[in-house]
Amino acid sequence: MEWIKLFYFGLGALTGSFLNVCIVRLPKEESILWPRSHCPHCQKQLPWYDLIPLLSYALVQGQCRFCQRKISIEYFIVELVTAFLAVWTFDQFGLRPQGFAYFLFVASLVVITVIDIHHRIIPDVISLGGTVLGFLLSFHFLDIGYGESLIGIFMGGGILLALAWTYFKFTKREGMGGGDIKLAAMIGAFLGYKSILLVLFLSSILGSFWGLLMILIKKEGLKSALPFGPFLAGAALIVLFYGDLLLTFLGYY
Ligand SMILES: [Zn+2]
Repeated sequence: MEWIKLFYFGLGALTGSFLNVCIVRLPKEESILWPRSHCPHCQKQLPWYDLIPLLSYALVQGQCRFCQRKISIEYFIVELVTAFLAVWTFDQFGLRPQGFAYFLFVASLVVITVIDIHHRIIPDVISLGGTVLGFLLSFHFLDIGYGESLIGIFMGGGILLALAWTYFKFTKREGMGGGDIKLAAMIGAFLGYKSILLVLFLSSILGSFWGLLMILIKKEGLKSALPFGPFLAGAALIVLFYGDLLLTFLGYY
């Protein structure tokens, strides 16, 4: 066990607890900095020792210490997942500006995934903000150049826009939302145009498998469209960590 990994893990868990605040407050358009965290049921402000990532949840056994009502295990899961993603990210890109740039991207994907699952929306502040940020970071802090980033933005956004338009033309129903289009642009900004194609391809495979699985389990057709954001985000993570491997395997290089 390397101690540095434990440090990455702690950094990730701490970030995850901030992401939980974003996940709860962004859809309500509340400030993410103020007021301090409170119980979702009784609104009592939580003392500092209830805000320690992972540990606090385990110590209070998933209950508010004031009103004793259950606190969703989702908070714990988001912290744990973010902690592991931090270890992966910094292991690959190092504890340097590059590592933090990519970790910012990874953290945004976590927030987008959970918000999309709950509310079927992707906040513009993250997807559009992330697109601009990714492009700016590509000048110095990403493994791709700004040209690759710019083409990635237009390819990611453009392909999904074309798909959404075609789908609407033929079915007169909205299949893909504007949020997915902006998210694809953001992923293109951070990963570049070579990877965005792989992300789109992979996300459609993941989405199809999940759809089939749901049909088999529920033994009925899919009544509502799946939120596509989580599949885009998941595919982006796979390509970020294993993209070179996949591209080599596909004979892209
Ligand atoms: Zn409470």
